[in-house]
Amino acid sequence: MAKRVVDVLVPVAVDQAYSYRMPDGLEASPGDLVTVPLGTRKATGVVWGEGSARPGLDNRLKDIAAKLDIPPLKDELRKFIDWVSGYTLNPRGTVLRMAMRMGEKLGPERGRVGVRLGSTPPKRVTAARTRVLAIFADGLTRTKSEAASEAGVSTGVIDGLIDDGALETVVLPPEPLAGIPDPDYLAPDFTPDQRAAADAMRETVAKGGYSATLIDGVTGSGKTEVYFEAVAENIRRKRQTLILMPEIALTAQFLSRFAERFGVQAAEWHSQLSPRRRARTWSAVAENEVPVIVGARSALFLPYADLGLIVIDEEHDPAYKQEEGAHYHARDMAVVRASIAQIPIILSSATPSVESEVNARRGRYKRLHLPERFGGQSLPSIEAIDLTKEGPPRGRFISPRLAEAVKIALERGEQALLFLNRRGFAPLTLCRACGFRLHCPDCDAWLVDHRFKKKLVCHHCGFSTPYPKECPQCHATESFMPVGPGVERLQQEAAVLFPGKRIMVLSSDLADTVEKLRKELDDIAQGRVDIVIGTQLVAKGHHFPKLNLVGVVDADLGLGNGDPRAAERTFQLLHQVVGRAGREAGRGHGFLQTHQPEHPVMRALIVGDREAFYSSEIVLREAASYPPFGRLASLVISAANRHAAEGYARQLASAAPRHDDVRVLGPAEAPVAVVRGRHRFRLLVKSPRAFDLSGYLRQWLSGGPKARGSIKLDVDIDPQSFF
Ligand code: ADP
Ligand code: ZN
Repeated sequence: MAKRVVDVLVPVAVDQAYSYRMPDGLEASPGDLVTVPLGTRKATGVVWGEGSARPGLDNRLKDIAAKLDIPPLKDELRKFIDWVSGYTLNPRGTVLRMAMRMGEKLGPERGRVGVRLGSTPPKRVTAARTRVLAIFADGLTRTKSEAASEAGVSTGVIDGLIDDGALETVVLPPEPLAGIPDPDYLAPDFTPDQRAAADAMRETVAKGGYSATLIDGVTGSGKTEVYFEAVAENIRRKRQTLILMPEIALTAQFLSRFAERFGVQAAEWHSQLSPRRRARTWSAVAENEVPVIVGARSALFLPYADLGLIVIDEEHDPAYKQEEGAHYHARDMAVVRASIAQIPIILSSATPSVESEVNARRGRYKRLHLPERFGGQSLPSIEAIDLTKEGPPRGRFISPRLAEAVKIALERGEQALLFLNRRGFAPLTLCRACGFRLHCPDCDAWLVDHRFKKKLVCHHCGFSTPYPKECPQCHATESFMPVGPGVERLQQEAAVLFPGKRIMVLSSDLADTVEKLRKELDDIAQGRVDIVIGTQLVAKGHHFPKLNLVGVVDADLGLGNGDPRAAERTFQLLHQVVGRAGREAGRGHGFLQTHQPEHPVMRALIVGDREAFYSSEIVLREAASYPPFGRLASLVISAANRHAAEGYARQLASAAPRHDDVRVLGPAEAPVAVVRGRHRFRLLVKSPRAFDLSGYLRQWLSGGPKARGSIKLDVDIDPQSFF
């Protein structure tokens, strides 16, 4: 009798599931994780469905090697993976890989090894050994590494003492991942507005089924407290909750808030978890041992045993779009996951994405509105500083009026934030003698001076080099001159303007580890810093009680870069960064240094007329058939030389199937024409909203010329980045 054949999808970059034979004595159903031979190695894959019977061929199929003792991937997750792959055009195996980032250490976690005082004295006594024994004198058990770092010795010293019998080892139970949250641990007394929203949330969750709700409330209005009620209800129903955050840096403050509200920690999921923790969290999520996950976008692909609610915090945040490797938008895909799983999803923001705003206006999302800050604090008042009239002196970036305002804030014992979304010291360095500009050898980009790290860095490819001793062109020495500001240069200026003040510069390149960043954010929150100078890293979500003044050093920075979302992004970012001010004292003030105080974005911020901004932005998008009124896809072609890239881009464009609804724009050289030595061209594809653009592209690309040799084609559906 012919053996059963099943299709197994493996987490590699192919679309297709491969057929395998089921050996005697093994039973595996769709969703089960199995080990299969793949080429010369073994891979862990997932049974995706029954195999197609192929008479005569089955003898050549290989056998499944083993079935893993892990809960199967649910139907729901497999459907989601198929959907994401179909929509984004990422191969199914690539999407599956995102669901299988559990590391190699699956299965029950090995017990951790602890160390405590033994019964024999050490054979040899050294200063280091004495220190170790002294800390163990309290009779407590520690892990080796805890003990080593506490005593300031290497783990070798601990091992030596174990060998001597002076210390002994014990097996500790695995660290608990997360306790059971208590939905009623510490619920706040809500204001009437909050109450109404919280009740609506609770009912939505109690009712179950798919629905999307936009919590639209000004910064500090209590959106988090309100959606915690939805989480509480989901906990009561004993179902799992996923809370997505745009950035890991945000999760620390959030986790402690969660603990205050629910009495226990939530489990975390992000790229910086240790491999062991990752494996353990992955299985615990699958075993339904984790009630709440707080995570970055990849948490969307975890194998939840019983997901009952998804929350997207700061839903408008561009960080939800993954740009490396597989392109996908975690917010949009989360809505899809909720609809496949038939569960509610909550999107929260003070400045919703135009997409979500349109969905709310059209009734596709339910809107819960929180128009006021909690505690009656007024929102920050905002004014423009017109750089064409009252700018700073040449070579400086903080205008006299802004400097004066900072001084006054500091005199009152408050904090000030100077915001500039630019890392490093200066975006451009040129030779004063000959005008030569330092640029990346591999990209069409200037090298950015990072003085704190004493190097020049390319922000596109990461290339870095020490400062050259002389100009590569005219060999002049001491002739380099910075042009334009970065946060590090602002620090220099602030140190002169505000002597003796404690200044902290925060930007992603300086925050080496999440721990360090968390500590720095905590220093600000505790008031151990007077002036914060930061990039968008400080704009988001944080609660800094003593911060009342925000100065935006270059409000025009994000405008006019050819991105259809430039106005929206600038509005959201500036609104959010200014919203850091006055969260506790309620007299926040924001300054926008700008060359165009009459720009609609600046006007909307200054008069506080958000609705007007959205309405005009929506009209513009609709007129241009930009998202969400039309669909966009971007095809970036890159190759080792310009000719090859352009040639292939032209061939590809001419192979596009003709369709009345579709416009193929380009090929045009990409705005950043060379990255990592690769020349880039792009095609932009536009279609009406109701059109199946993914299907169209699939047809086009399967019939079109194949990218060969050095040529690479990168497909991005719903592109957010246009560089
Ligand atoms: P948002 O998420 O809208 O920015 P938060 O939920 O973070 O607002 O609330 C802002 C601050 O006000 C937080 O410190 C929060 O704990 C506090 N807060 C909000 N609502 C209440 C309430 N009803 N009772 C007590 N504190 C509240
Ligand atoms: Zn570069």
